[in-house]
Amino acid sequence: MSTKFEIRYRSFNDLKIAIEKYDLSPIEIILINESKKSKLPEHKIIEKFEYILRVMKDSVNLKETDNRFHISVDSAEIYKEREQSFFSPLVQEIIQSALVTSVNNACMHRIVSSPTGGASGVMPGVLIPILKHYGFNDDIAVKALLIGAAIGDVIKNLATLSGAEGGCQAEIGSASAMTAGAVSYLFKEDISMVESAASIALKNILGLTCDPVAGLVEIPCIKRNAMGALNALLATELSISGIKTKIPFDEVVLAMKDIGDKMDSTLRETGLGGLAATPTGKKFSKKLKQSYNR
Ligand code: SF4
Repeated sequence: MSTKFEIRYRSFNDLKIAIEKYDLSPIEIILINESKKSKLPEHKIIEKFEYILRVMKDSVNLKETDNRFHISVDSAEIYKEREQSFFSPLVQEIIQSALVTSVNNACMHRIVSSPTGGASGVMPGVLIPILKHYGFNDDIAVKALLIGAAIGDVIKNLATLSGAEGGCQAEIGSASAMTAGAVSYLFKEDISMVESAASIALKNILGLTCDPVAGLVEIPCIKRNAMGALNALLATELSISGIKTKIPFDEVVLAMKDIGDKMDSTLRETGLGGLAATPTGKKFSKKLKQSYNR
């Protein structure tokens, strides 16, 4: 793959323009951009993403849970494949994988920050069961991850990926958008479908606050990962069925930034508002502090 072009994109629109201007695939453009940014040759970037894929595959398996300092790491154990379910076995596995990865994150096991630890269950939660179910090989999986990374990059450039800055919309919302774009690319290698999938996913989560109980990335974070995964699946389904976003992705991201800027600081990871400030949330916080002092 050639790196003779000086390609740098900040926005999704830049990416689309570069694809057209140089008549290259989205993956070729993303690799050139990544290579320029990181000063690594393209094959090294691919190796990094192969490693990321391996870690993601491992992160969906439940590791040891240590409840000593935790208040809610039981979700992965209670959600098992059920005979009576609204969801197909694949969707049940997606829910389970998102919860498990998020519990593994809470218990300090290795996960991929995609784009953050708090939202680390969304992407592997959807991607890994889908790769297995449809028999996609690792080469196409790495391409999907590159698409997801490019979407995350655009959000970072135009807004933020941090709950402390933009609320949970910037974490779970971004993870959901990255996942929807990545999975849509698995099924249709079409950049406008990727854009629609990512836009629909992010639009659905705009305004979500960051209000972790006791300051731990557990309540509501773990279950929000399952929600972000299902939202990504829905956005992908709509996009690959031909439903288009009316608002371009860059504008959705800028809307997210605007909403985050207007969000009160108590709703941006300070643990002072929303669920963290409920009577039960405060009780959990008090109990946790007491356990530290024992
Ligand atoms: S609530 Fe806050 S800490 Fe939890 S996943 Fe969302 S952004 Fe992260």
